Amino acid sequence: MSKCLADRSIDHVVIERGEVANSWRTERWDSLRLLTPNWQSRLPGFGYEGNDPDGFRNMAETVAFLERYASVIAAPVESHTTVTAVRENGGGFLVSTDRGDWHSRTVVLATGACNIPSVPKVAEKLPADIVTFTPRDYRNPGQLPDGGVLVVGASASGTQLAYEIHRSGRPVTIAVSEHIRAPRVYRGRDIQWWMDAAGVHDERFDAVDDIDRARRVPSLQLAGSDDRMTLDLNLLTAMGVRLVGRLAGVSDGKAQFSGSLRNKCALSDLKMNRLLNTFDEWATQNGLDGEHEPPRRLPPTEVEASPPLILDLKAAGIRSVIWATGFLPDYSWLEVPVLDRKGLIRHDGGVVAQPGLYLMGMQFLRRRKSALIDGAGDDARDLSDHLAAYLDGDIARAV
Ligand SMILES: Cc1cc2nc3c(=O)[nH]c(=O)nc-3n(C[C@H](O)[C@H](O)[C@H](O)COP(=O)(O)OP(=O)(O)OC[C@H]3O[C@@H](n4cnc5c(N)ncnc54)[C@H](O)[C@@H]3O)c2cc1C
Repeated sequence: MSKCLADRSIDHVVIERGEVANSWRTERWDSLRLLTPNWQSRLPGFGYEGNDPDGFRNMAETVAFLERYASVIAAPVESHTTVTAVRENGGGFLVSTDRGDWHSRTVVLATGACNIPSVPKVAEKLPADIVTFTPRDYRNPGQLPDGGVLVVGASASGTQLAYEIHRSGRPVTIAVSEHIRAPRVYRGRDIQWWMDAAGVHDERFDAVDDIDRARRVPSLQLAGSDDRMTLDLNLLTAMGVRLVGRLAGVSDGKAQFSGSLRNKCALSDLKMNRLLNTFDEWATQNGLDGEHEPPRRLPPTEVEASPPLILDLKAAGIRSVIWATGFLPDYSWLEVPVLDRKGLIRHDGGVVAQPGLYLMGMQFLRRRKSALIDGAGDDARDLSDHLAAYLDGDIARAV
């Protein structure tokens, strides 16, 4: 957004509580690598220039990439400055920080979609001697006590952590709810290449049937690794990880799991195959079948005949629980009345209900790719266009 505003000669400042790329520096586990290939992190006027376009950045490389971008575009970043309140102020906004106040006619809220781990209420019922982590405070398996681990959630974070922790010698059980399975490589190309080429990532918020539902869809079950492995539940099962259903409750030291495991897995397989059908149809329509390996399908997700519905945590040797149950944004500092009853900002493709206020970086904000690094550019171009029109008083253009 800073680059797009600068291109329009709009005076602005970027306020950051830490340093550039703060979330990648401070809120991720040690071994994490992007699940999007290097070529795919495209920012306005800035792409991948190295010799490994299909590789996956680790955290140090991701931080370096964003730092370099901020430096190349000379972004006016005020680092180590925390916004403590944003209030409406006579047609503009008063932005209070721990280093003084700013007045501005417009504000772009780009504080991220993943500020607070979303931990279900049932967490309160866990026995006190069980150690718990979220993907935000987990760093590596060395933090965990020896013994079994229950990972709750089987999207990208949950499956990646289950894989790493099980390999550390701690037996893992993973509680599986809604998830979206995907092969890392399909017909010889990375799944993200297909999402990009077939236009799935560019699907717009105003063209899908149920945008609220689309915004709640979990992340693809993917990981970035040198061997381009498909990190799905079948791989975890083959390693010895035990699958159970969605964690429904905890009482008297016993975890209760929903009986929906088989259905959730079947639904996930179905959705994956539908996505692959979309790619196949796109390839055929564009006469590209000859350029790619033939279509194939992964075997269905294997589920044991009667997965346990109750697990006595102590008897099963579970010593720690990882809550890989998603994230929420934090708007505790936002004093403009634009939140819905779930605490999320009411907006139309990033144009917030309060004139002059804009939102970035949310799931399916304007496009399916909006919450990816690669999605920021197109959204920033659209929203800076709207913002510029708003500043010009050109209401007809600012719609
Ligand atoms: C575990 C995990 C893995 C991911 N993997 C990928 C991936 O492989 N590829 C990909 O494209 N995307 C990935 N994402 C999504 C990724 O978060 C986004 O692509 C990208 O970080 C969004 O950038 P952002 O600037 O919108 O938000 P963020 O990166 O969260 O940045 C928000 C910034 O706002 C600052 N901030 C927040 N509150 C305040 C305040 N009150 N005052 C001042 N500053 C504040 C924060 O310090 C932070 O630097 C992943 C997300 C998670 C959680």
